[in-house]
Amino acid sequence: MTLRTAANLPMPAVWVLGVPIHNVTVAEACALAEELILGGGVHQFATVNPEFIMAAQRDTAFMETLRRTALNVPDGVGVLWAARRRGVVLRERVPGVELMQALCAMASAHRWRVFFLGAREGVAAKAAGEMALRYPGLVVAGTFAGSPRPDEAMGIVARVRAAQPHLLFVAYGAPAQDKWLAQHLPLIAPDRNEGLIGMGVGGTFDFIAGVQRRAPSWVQQVGLEWLYRLWRQPWRWRRQTVLLSFAWRAMLKSS
Ligand code: UDP
Repeated sequence: MTLRTAANLPMPAVWVLGVPIHNVTVAEACALAEELILGGGVHQFATVNPEFIMAAQRDTAFMETLRRTALNVPDGVGVLWAARRRGVVLRERVPGVELMQALCAMASAHRWRVFFLGAREGVAAKAAGEMALRYPGLVVAGTFAGSPRPDEAMGIVARVRAAQPHLLFVAYGAPAQDKWLAQHLPLIAPDRNEGLIGMGVGGTFDFIAGVQRRAPSWVQQVGLEWLYRLWRQPWRWRRQTVLLSFAWRAMLKSS
């Protein structure tokens, strides 16, 4: 099935419990981002994992958001598995942390401006500093912790708009970050021909800043990063019980 993106590009998508997932690699996601920024306008990317899909079953605003994004990358082995049940072999898992780094590399080559919004006080700045070290020439348009609270939204919108970013990474956790972007990205439309891409990145700033450690690469490779996160952050168990119902529903339903 083909989903027309905001740029009117045909990106192949597979639908998992009502959520479109695009069959892209990290490199292709970056190529699309480049094309969208050069073409102008505001666009949203989401890094969809099984928790997103289950949350969207109960939260219509979140479902609506995930159906309107320009790109939903498959972040999580559960998504790859559910796609395979639907006859689509997704070429690779696209973890948010890897996509964010690849987008920063691309931004540094173009001298595009990047804004880091969210996480606990000081973490966004630390993550931005680390990205600027790894990708020399990266233009950090701004960093701010902020919060997804509605009473703070207009102040944050004004702050981000003044910074005129090409890329806006938002780390408020899902679904808050993705709904925040859907609601506020249009208000942050840049005053120039080049466009803006907003993407929710969850705990990515924490990983980059070293506040949280990512699973060793062999654990990632065998598809157990979720288990590693559960071990590091046991309070996640309640959230991760949704993975069982995801497995159950994704197996029974074929759309
Ligand atoms: N966070 C925030 N404000 C909030 C709630 C969360 O800045 O009101 C941040 C939190 O500090 C963390 C990120 O959002 O950096 C969410 O991380 P989590 O690991 O929960 O997200 P996931 O990767 O599971 O989507």
